[in-house]
This record gives sequence, structure tokens and C-alpha cells, in this order.
Amino acid sequence: MIDTVKLNEVFGDAKKFRFFRAPGRVNIIGEHTDYNDGFVLPFAVDKFVFCAIRKNKSKKVRIFSALFDEMDEFGLDDIENKSEKFWVNYPKGILWVLKNSGYEFDGMDIFLDSNLPVGAGLSSSAAIELAVLSAVSTVNGIKLDKESMAKIGQKAENEFVGVRCGIMDQFTSAFGKKGQAIFLDTMTLKYKYVPLNLGEYSFLIIDTNVKHSLASGEYNLRRKQCEEILKTLNKKSFRELKISEIEILPEVLQKRAKHVLMENERVLKSVEALENGDIEELGRLLYESHQSLKELYEVSCEELDFVVDYLKDKDIIGGRMVGGGFGGSVIALVKREEKNFEEDLAEKFRKKFSIDLTFEEIESEDGAKEITV
Ligand code: ADP
Ligand code: MG
Repeated sequence: MIDTVKLNEVFGDAKKFRFFRAPGRVNIIGEHTDYNDGFVLPFAVDKFVFCAIRKNKSKKVRIFSALFDEMDEFGLDDIENKSEKFWVNYPKGILWVLKNSGYEFDGMDIFLDSNLPVGAGLSSSAAIELAVLSAVSTVNGIKLDKESMAKIGQKAENEFVGVRCGIMDQFTSAFGKKGQAIFLDTMTLKYKYVPLNLGEYSFLIIDTNVKHSLASGEYNLRRKQCEEILKTLNKKSFRELKISEIEILPEVLQKRAKHVLMENERVLKSVEALENGDIEELGRLLYESHQSLKELYEVSCEELDFVVDYLKDKDIIGGRMVGGGFGGSVIALVKREEKNFEEDLAEKFRKKFSIDLTFEEIESEDGAKEITV
């Protein structure tokens, strides 16, 4: 929640603030499909970035992050320039997009807090964007629908922060609904809610706390390879592509294409499995997805494989790496009473890699909204 004691200390008069929160997200399945016009199946999680806000009757924005314990300040006429503090560029990027879209807003005091781990694959970046956007638009009377909010968040991250990301994270942080996953077509932005009836199962995030330095280079290379596939086969989109057509591609590109096409199929099958309450089938699809990410898309690493192999070995029904790869987290589908494997896994992992794992239990939650504290 919001640390109101700290808020009082930093800005004073906490009672004058309004409070907002936006969730992180986890993607059940559909990995490396979002920038290929594909399908994804995320849900918003019960971990948030919180934003307290008030107008300050000046021409300045003052912004404080409790996470970084840092303050920044800039004038309303200085929104074009990036801040030297990296984290400030997420909220500032939101103001930049709003301003460039012709919206007007006043000087504000903004206080950020969170219980969402950074860089763990839960998209704290989309959460900060959507929390700030909900807060700023509401107090300034700017009316935006959820789709516009998702697009503004993505634009801020793409064009102001300078991170090339798809729309899934922001879309989920805006549209999330407790008890529901979102089946999203990233090409058309058509979506439908899929009830998360997991019965005795729940999702667990296992963060390897590893980030290999090749991650961003390899990510850009995968995106290039996907463009190359379409160019070679003279297609506008992966959605026009059939598996029988990829045989003429060089072997590496064949593998990449096969992952994307089969992963889209797995998303469709996962939606069906969830709707049928067939959680074991969903688990099997998660393992299949991991295998494909490891062998065809080649974005896994020793640490991620170690965790997934362990889960398989213990008869956990499903798990896979999530996110860009070369480190980061594993999502596991676990029976509630099975959680006692955590200590054993952590110990074996520590022995092999000298790194501590982090475990996060996650439940679904609503998208960005105003709250009372
Ligand atoms: P993630 O996978 O968590 O989205 P990113 O690297 O995309 O990882 O985004 C993380 C960045 O978002 C942080 O480095 C920071 O700049 C910003 N951020 C996230 N949470 C906060 C917060 N509570 N306060 C300030 N900045 C934050
Ligand atoms: Mg991010």
C-alpha cells in the first residue's frame, strides 16, 4: 500500500491527495508472440504501483519514488527533455504523450510507491505508466477509455523511455479483472475475458534473479529474424503464414517461425483448456511452451531450464520461462499443498548457481483504478 507516513514527510498534508493503483501482469502463455501479431493470455496480478497525486497550484511537477527514495522536479514547459534519473522518464513519458496529444494539465505533486518487484517479469514498467496515467488524467478531467490508456502507456515506453515493447503489458494493466485472464489478439486488440477457474491450483512466480548480458541483444536479434521471415516469404503478418510454407526458410528462421506459429496454437488450446476447467492440459501446454522457447526460439538459459526440469521432476503440472529470456522468472502451476518444494528447490539452485531464488505467489486482480486508503 501507500506509505502515508512517508507521503506526509515528503509533501505534507497527505489528506489532500487522491490515490490510484495499477497492477503488474503475468502472461500465462503466448511468449514472443506479442510483437508478431499473435495471441497472448495474460492476467493482472495483485501487486501494484501506487500513485498519490494532488495539484500543487504551480507550473511544476514534483515527483517522488519511495522505491528509489528520490525526488525530481521539472517545469510544465520542460516535458520534452529526458530526466537524468532513469525512473522519472516513465511518468514523464506519460506527460509527454498527453501533451503531444493536445491534452492540458496543471502542476502536480506525485508520490509513487509499489509492492511490485522491478525486473521480475511482472511488468512494473506498465504498472507505473498506467498508475500515473490514471492519476493524472482523472485529476485533470481528461477522459480516456482503457484502450487509449494502454496505447498511451506503450507510446511513452517506446518513444520517450526508448524501450521497444508490445502492447500486452499496458493493455493488461488497464483491462485486468479479478478472477479473469485476458485472451488478447495483439493484431486487432480484440479481446475476451477467460475465467481463471484454477480449482486447487494457483500460479507461482519463481525468479531466478539472473539477467544475462546477452538478453537485450538477443531480443533485438529475434525481432529482426521475425521481420526477415516475413520479408523472405513475402507476408505482411505472421497471421497469414502457414506452417507448410516455412520449409524454404534457412534452418534458424524455420525454428523461430515454428515457435511463433505453434505458440499461437498453444494459446488457443490454453483458452479452451481453461474454459473446460482442464488445468492439467493447461499445465502440459506450459511445459510444451518452455520446450519450444528453449529449443526453437532459443531464449532460455541454464538457470531457467534447471527450475523447469526440477518442477517436471517433482510432478508439478506445468511451468515455463516467462518474458524475454536469458534469465528472469519461471511461472509454475502449483497445487496449493505442493508449495513445500520451494525450500528444497531454492537449496539445490543455490548449490549449483550460488544465487537465491525468489518466490511470489500471485492472484488475479482488477486493472488500474482509483482507491481509498
Ligand atoms: P519490468 O519487467 O519490471 O517492467 P522494466 O525494466 O521494464 O522491468 O521496468 C522497470 C523500471 O520501471 C525500473 O527500472 C524503474 O525505472 C521503473 N519503475 C518501476 N517501479 C517503479 C517505482 N515504484 N518507482 C519508480 N520507478 C519505477
Ligand atoms: Mg517492463
